[in-house]
Formats: sequence, C-alpha cells, structure tokens
Amino acid sequence: ASELEQIVRDHVHETPNFPSEGVLFRDFTPLFADGPAFKRAVDLMCEQIDAEGGVDVVAGIEARGFLLCSAIGYRLGAGVLPIRKAGKLPSPTVTETYSLEYGEATIEIRDGFLRPGDRVLIVDDVLATGGTMVAAASLLRRFGAEIIDSWVLFELLDLHGAKALADNEIPYKSAWA
Ligand code: IMP
Repeated sequence: ASELEQIVRDHVHETPNFPSEGVLFRDFTPLFADGPAFKRAVDLMCEQIDAEGGVDVVAGIEARGFLLCSAIGYRLGAGVLPIRKAGKLPSPTVTETYSLEYGEATIEIRDGFLRPGDRVLIVDDVLATGGTMVAAASLLRRFGAEIIDSWVLFELLDLHGAKALADNEIPYKSAWA
C-alpha cells in the first residue's frame, strides 16, 4: 500500500448496520482528529493532484467534504466552495437533483462565485454509487467550471462509482479502495 493508503486505512472507524441494516459505515473522524496523520494525508493528496495549471476552487461535499476542502484549499492556495444539501444556503443558489436508490436528493451552491473556466477540484470522504459526485460535477460544470480532479478518502468498490465518474468524464482518485 502507498503511504497515503496506509494512513487512511489506519485511521478509520467502521460501524456495521449504520445508518441502516446491512451498511458498513466508514467514519474518518480518527483521521481528522489526529493532527500529524491528517496533515500528512492532506500533503500527500495535494502532491498527487494535477495542479499544474493551478486550482482556483476546491469544492467540498457536505459534510465531511468540508473538512477536506478547507485543508486542501489552504494548502493549494485555492478558494473553497461548500456544496450543500438543499435548503441550507441563502439565495441566490443553483441546485442539482439526482436519483438515489430510493427517492432523490438535491444539492446546491451559492450563485455568483464560480467563473467560466475556473479549475475546480471536488472532494468528499467516501465514494459509493458516485451519484453525489456526478451531480456535484454537473452542477459546477453548469457555470463553465473545469473539473480538474475529484478525490475521496475511500471508495466502496462494489458500487462501481468509479465507472459512473468515468462515464461522465470526471477525473478521479481515491486514497483507499
Ligand atoms: P454516493 O452518492 O452513492 O456515491 O454516496 C456518497 C455519499 O454518501 C458521500 O457524500 C458520502 O459522504 C456518503 N457515504 C456513503 N457511504 C458512506 C460511509 O460509509 N461513510 C461515510 N459516508 C458515506
């Protein structure tokens, strides 16, 4: 395993049957709460981000993506933009609705903070089906943003989220799968 993968694997807490029966929930509080490990993981992620042309904005998906986007944005000297669940932001906002296994979900961002051509990195803690990340990318692309990369700490391989991202031409990396 790479050093990054090892750090992430060593700092996860796994809870069976949370938030519902049959789900093994991965919680990365142990990583966020460990100063040296969190710093090293963020540094290693930043080294692998294709930032050659610069990164204008790091967009984080609510809620644990916020922890990552703030640290990565600071390290890269980029702005940070929260992608929130619907109903938390004052208007004007722009929303994107996508389907879940049961029902649908809506995410939104504040309008007026992305410019056409902005180079955007999207981050979250876990990739499952990829539905949230694909919706986030299409929301940002509606503003003319270029998704230069997307990053998660962990991917649930069984759910084939990486394929959903590839089908939508979203560059993607996961620290651990
Ligand atoms: P997807 O849209 O199916 O890819 O689900 C990804 C979203 O669900 C992300 O925002 C994750 O934070 C959340 N998620 C799914 N499984 C887990 C988990 O085991 N731990 C933490 N978050 C999870």
